[in-house]
Amino acid sequence: MNRHPSAQVLNVRDTLSLIDCGEGTQNQLLHYKISHHRIRYIFISHLHGDHYLGLNGLLATINFQGRDQELTIVGPPELEPMVMDHFKYSGTHLKFPLHFVATQAEHAEKLIDDKNFTVSSIPLNHRIPTTGFYVQEKTGLRHINADKCEALNIPYAHFGELKEGKDYTDPSGKVISNAELTFPPSRIRSYAYCSDTRYKPELAALLQGVDMMYHESTFLHELLERAKETLHTTALEAGRFATQCKAGKLLLGHYSARYQDLTPLKEEAEKEFESVLLAIEGGKYAVD
Ligand SMILES: [Zn+2]
Ligand SMILES: [Zn+2]
Repeated sequence: MNRHPSAQVLNVRDTLSLIDCGEGTQNQLLHYKISHHRIRYIFISHLHGDHYLGLNGLLATINFQGRDQELTIVGPPELEPMVMDHFKYSGTHLKFPLHFVATQAEHAEKLIDDKNFTVSSIPLNHRIPTTGFYVQEKTGLRHINADKCEALNIPYAHFGELKEGKDYTDPSGKVISNAELTFPPSRIRSYAYCSDTRYKPELAALLQGVDMMYHESTFLHELLERAKETLHTTALEAGRFATQCKAGKLLLGHYSARYQDLTPLKEEAEKEFESVLLAIEGGKYAVD
């Protein structure tokens, strides 16, 4: 068995976010040839070691390798002093702009408002304060109808405005409507990362229609009592929650080390929800 603690890279229109950063994450980024220079945001769901112990090592490497672009870390309020103390006590001078956004696990709130997407918190129910992250794309730009623009001799300098939905007025004053010159923007997609949590059906209202939902499924339902004690979710409950959310796809993860073969977890979730995927080390999953 070769399973690593939690870490995911989310690519939204070429902006990369790292979601959770378990021990060994920087080695795995190297292994999968994902440059940490490209990561703009790091989201940490909670302060159990399997979700953040790789962070200080990754930040030290990022700093050492001469990053200058800013980096934003989103996570529990204790994370900022933990990270900054580490830099302070190791006598490390921080060479790049580093920002922190503190989460709270009481109610959902908007955390990040990026050019292309927003990220809101998902208040989860775990042994310590824990949030998930709900990533929603913003409406994209319209796509240029290149053939039509060429046929009508629309100057390239106007393409920016056309993508924003404006009509084109030619030098004689004739207006050509935007709909003639462009195609509609791509569909808006959404992704929910539900980290360690007890099954929490009241969150379904928040996540209605999410395109892809990652949800922990630590146990099979025969260990429901254990899931309740440790504030985790069973695969059956994860499937049930995906149905309640009317999700497009469910990506299971955070499996107990007791399960060598993950097929029973998938089959159990499929009793409640039809489109189930298993998160596997190094796997790539398209949200569409
Ligand atoms: Zn945990
Ligand atoms: Zn965990």
